[in-house]
Amino acid sequence: AQSVQAPALNTTRSSEIFKAAQDILPGGVNSPVRAFKSVGGNPIVFERVKDAYAFDVDGNKYVDYVGSWGPAICGHANDRVNEKLKAQIDKGTSFGAPCELENALGEMVIERVPSVEMVRFCNSGTEACLSALRVMRAYTGRDMIIKFEGCYHGHADPFLVKAGSGVITLGLPDSPGVPAAATATTLCATYNNLDEVKALFAANPGKIAGVILEPVVGNSGFIAPDKEFLQGLRETCTKEGAVLCFDEVMTGFRIAKGCAQEYWGVTPDLTTMGKVIGGGMPVGAYGGKREIMDMVAPAGPMYQAGTLSGNPLAMVAGIETLKILGEPGQYEKLDKLTKRLIEGILKAGKDNGHAVCGGHISGMFGFFFTEGPVKNFADAAKSDTEKFGRWHRAMLEEGVYLAPSQYEAGFMSLAHTEADIDATIAAAQRAMARI
Ligand code: PLP
Repeated sequence: AQSVQAPALNTTRSSEIFKAAQDILPGGVNSPVRAFKSVGGNPIVFERVKDAYAFDVDGNKYVDYVGSWGPAICGHANDRVNEKLKAQIDKGTSFGAPCELENALGEMVIERVPSVEMVRFCNSGTEACLSALRVMRAYTGRDMIIKFEGCYHGHADPFLVKAGSGVITLGLPDSPGVPAAATATTLCATYNNLDEVKALFAANPGKIAGVILEPVVGNSGFIAPDKEFLQGLRETCTKEGAVLCFDEVMTGFRIAKGCAQEYWGVTPDLTTMGKVIGGGMPVGAYGGKREIMDMVAPAGPMYQAGTLSGNPLAMVAGIETLKILGEPGQYEKLDKLTKRLIEGILKAGKDNGHAVCGGHISGMFGFFFTEGPVKNFADAAKSDTEKFGRWHRAMLEEGVYLAPSQYEAGFMSLAHTEADIDATIAAAQRAMARI
């Protein structure tokens, strides 16, 4: 018989630190989802991370499937990456001048990512996406863009748009402080719905600079695209003279060695990157066709800059991370582990009578407390989020750290072992029985 008793989890110190933080930092955090608002309870305060594990300030150990929201694909504090970082620190942590490391990482990106002929490094995924938007507009001389409901492209004004469910609509800002003018040129469509995209192009002839999307959605929970949808976007953008941009901040070097675009066999004109490419250091990048990237200053007239861009610590961490990921069998390993995990979680849900659906691609996964199938944000929004909150807490009590929201993806690392996965599945069976 399954135990329905929750194991004791002492989080006294975490709660004290979080309480103090609320006087110092807005909401006690430096990025909103960390505050656990959508799952309830106080966040866990980390003391250190290593390999597949996170250790909190109360001495609890968790198997971690957040991985710093994606970057920790080789495992936290990977020995090889750390060695390179330590060696670099003695040579200086910031140059503000060209360094050869930028060429080295740039060449690796160009070699691996089908769409990228030139690349510009910056400091976050947000910066990468807002710069990509600027270059889409500069290159086409058009202002409008199409994004998809439930896709996140960082927190720059033009992307903070929620569309009415399933309706083709002009964007309205999601957040106070975003002027209506900043989102007036942002059009929103339903993910996996090519007809809506075509209708937007037909309604705005010659005005749409491009289309940006997550080629596998992670920011509404895990949602896979239909291959025909991606192919259709490619054809439509080509026909309309618009730029197709894959936001691979999350999927880049996680889904496949050549990112999601290689996995799906659909090549965009522009790609944004972040997370994995910095190996745990703050970094972002955007790249694409040479004639588009030639617009970027100082090669061209489109201004974009950064004091810390191309930072040597970020470059060495990125280079070593991509080296590790370039070794044979790594994506097969991620896929195998992740498949085992998600199948085990879904089985645990069904065994205990819950409506669940989900999936994975390589080292990215997710599931929803709903029957499914989930093809877009509106489908995802049918999930039982209160049940998710209970599941999240129950898994924490079991020593498993999952993203604290139904609408976030999970991430596997190369440091996770089959024993970790099996322990997590056993924990999932107990947690699903309790909620
Ligand atoms: N684009 C996608 C697809 C993301 O998942 C994220 C962050 O989660 C971003 C952009 C923004 O990146 P950052 O948080 O580094 O600014």
